[in-house]
Amino acid sequence: MPKTPFLAACEKTIGTDAVLKDPQLMMPYLTDVRKRFTGRAMAVLFPKSTQEVSQLMRLCTQYRVNVVPQGGNTGTVLGSVPDKTGHAVVISLKRMNHILGVDPENLTMTVEAGCILDHVRATARDAGRLFPLSLASSGSCMIGGNLAANAGGTAVLRYGTARDLCLGLQAVLPDGAVYDGLYRLRKNNTGYDLKDLFIGSEGTLGIITAAVLKLFPLPKGRQTAFVALQSPDDALRLLNLAQGMAQDLLTTYELISSVSLGVVLAHFPDLKSPLPEKAPYYVLMELSGTQQVQDMQEALEAILGAAFDEGIVIDAAIAQSEAQAQHFWALRENIAEGQARSGKNIKHDISVPVSQIPRFMAVTDQLLQDAFPGCRMTVFGHLGDGSLHYNVGAPPGITDDAFLQRQDAVNQVVYDSVARFHGAISAEHGLGALKHDKNAHYKGNVEMDLMRRIKGAIDPLGIMNPGKVLP
Ligand SMILES: Cc1cc2nc3c(=O)[nH]c(=O)nc-3n(C[C@H](O)[C@H](O)[C@H](O)COP(=O)(O)OP(=O)(O)OC[C@H]3O[C@@H](n4cnc5c(N)ncnc54)[C@H](O)[C@@H]3O)c2cc1C
Repeated sequence: MPKTPFLAACEKTIGTDAVLKDPQLMMPYLTDVRKRFTGRAMAVLFPKSTQEVSQLMRLCTQYRVNVVPQGGNTGTVLGSVPDKTGHAVVISLKRMNHILGVDPENLTMTVEAGCILDHVRATARDAGRLFPLSLASSGSCMIGGNLAANAGGTAVLRYGTARDLCLGLQAVLPDGAVYDGLYRLRKNNTGYDLKDLFIGSEGTLGIITAAVLKLFPLPKGRQTAFVALQSPDDALRLLNLAQGMAQDLLTTYELISSVSLGVVLAHFPDLKSPLPEKAPYYVLMELSGTQQVQDMQEALEAILGAAFDEGIVIDAAIAQSEAQAQHFWALRENIAEGQARSGKNIKHDISVPVSQIPRFMAVTDQLLQDAFPGCRMTVFGHLGDGSLHYNVGAPPGITDDAFLQRQDAVNQVVYDSVARFHGAISAEHGLGALKHDKNAHYKGNVEMDLMRRIKGAIDPLGIMNPGKVLP
């Protein structure tokens, strides 16, 4: 068996303390964040440098060992954990956690892949700059994982996804070659954009070891409002109005259905609705920028005033303090947890063109009611980006577990509808080992063929995160 000489070679290369083989100690690296699945691996490896990653990849190629790259292991689609065969190693980037340089005048920052997102954000802030990627998992996810998953979050409307926030990348290929593209340039028209191949590839092409990130001037403040509306149509009208009036001051625009707010209020007694009356839908919207806070406040008041005049909103509250703004945010950020405490759901993380969101919701809600009468919808998400958490719960009288047995049928209704609206079956969380087969069904043959050819060209032995992204 090649395993023992392989692990001996790994230990010789990166040291015995950097090769974890104890099955008990390996468990956190083999189990997904939602504790639904535990895989098996020969070892978890902890390289300290790009050179060590390169040497390990050469060994993996030589011994034909599969590789699962791992950052903070917060991914929700089983992309960061190995399968049950035991033929893989996990390569954890956690020891490669150095900030390599901050260039405030160039508005860039160069970091190793294992830097935790909160650390990156804090380092930028210390330099008087903003790194805007913002996720609820930011205390443990790592920048390499953010890029490999092309993470989104709550500021995409203004700043884009992880892909938009990356200028340069370093990655180690399966044969150990190092692609050194740590450019700090905003313009670079010298051929194919190779970094974009690795961003969003979920570890199936190589290991991201470092990146150049885009920074922005630090906003002076933010103005946050919690708005009640009658319908998703009105939410879209308010979005268009706000974009027209505030332009790029509009940083966040999150839709919250009354059911979504209800699960938070039911399970977090300290959190109260900022508005006296219930409404079918709410929006959490935020302006931020380098303008004076007073100017932003006036801009927000002007938007809401115009929205009242046009009959778009029912009611609205503007946060009067930072504490109140945080309270508004807690209502949004605790929906997933409130929902988990209320029972199990069949979850979807989908996107359609922003303009189509109201129609998509109306059509798909009806299709689901026709197929599963009484099913309970919990819908919330980044309306400003056209992406929704579109979750389906069991109808009354049916247990959650019995309803979960119908997951494939529910998924098909939702994904077929997404396809009709020219959307994507994953907006943020990726495909991993959970949605790769469905993706192949909905993407065109040419698109799938191109993806397979790219995979084959870079990873001809198929050792990089097999069973993820491509079926
Ligand atoms: C509470 C919570 C909130 C979340 N909110 C959001 C959200 O708002 N938006 C969003 O987009 N996601 C969200 N996520 C999902 C997840 O946090 C993100 O996808 C995050 O970017 C993953 O980073 P990570 O370091 O944990 O990566 P991991 O989970 O370790 O890995 C994710 C994928 O990337 C690959 N990978 C990891 N590191 C590397 C590397 N260095 N090189 C190559 N491949 C690599 C893995 O093999 C895997 O396929 C959330 C998750 C949780 C638990």
